[in-house]
Amino acid sequence: IDHELDYPKRPEEMDWATHYPQYFTSTSSDDTPTSSKQVEWADVGCGFGGLLMALAPMFPDTLMLGMEIRMSVTKYVTDRIAATRQAQSLLPADSTEHQSGGFQNVSVIRANSMKHMPNFFKKGQLSKMFFLFPDPHFKNRKHKARIITTALIAEYAYVLRPGGILYTVTDVKDLHEWMAHHLRAHPLFTPIPNEDLVDDPILKAARTATEEGRKVERNKGDKWVACFTRKEDPED
Ligand code: SAM
Repeated sequence: IDHELDYPKRPEEMDWATHYPQYFTSTSSDDTPTSSKQVEWADVGCGFGGLLMALAPMFPDTLMLGMEIRMSVTKYVTDRIAATRQAQSLLPADSTEHQSGGFQNVSVIRANSMKHMPNFFKKGQLSKMFFLFPDPHFKNRKHKARIITTALIAEYAYVLRPGGILYTVTDVKDLHEWMAHHLRAHPLFTPIPNEDLVDDPILKAARTATEEGRKVERNKGDKWVACFTRKEDPED
């Protein structure tokens, strides 16, 4: 519920220093923290954080953020990241367990991604958005309550920069068809043929590294993938 959710009025007011202390310096309250870095990848409905934990050491220079609406799950991911950062900081630099970036580039927020995307991100800030195994109760959900709708796609297009990629993976075929259909119909997105992404390590992680993706694998379920590029804004 909204009044229990904490979100900035606008992206400039977001305190990223608590999330990425190595990249943003905490400043006095009347100063906005500044950094040459900004969050570029968002895992929407990140669940227990498996994707982020896989990608963080693979792309140590990219700031990535999980967004999760459930409080307890968000807390779990927060603790998971903190524990991993702590463990990494205690390792000798030449240790074989040492991971590039020390997980300083990953964080999570409790947020309703269907409502507050533009509160957290500026126009064109993101270069990747992940929607992995969303909406398990897709069929019973009313259209407006779905995570991919025409109205929401416009918001995702707003925060995603031209050339950015939106990834969807699901084990629910009807949901796949729904998401792909709506994204294909949207003027600001163009589909990426699956063949073009077979060697993409990011898509591989998106399919296999989340907790839900692993469960589907254990149950030998199918996975459907649909990825889209954010087009340039039309000239008017
Ligand atoms: N992506 C993860 C994975 O693959 O393991 C989690 C999949 S889980 C089926 C869907 C997640 O989306 C849940 O953790 C749920 O709490 C979260 N979620 C649902 N609606 C959301 C919303 N509007 N904003 C943020 N998170 C949401």
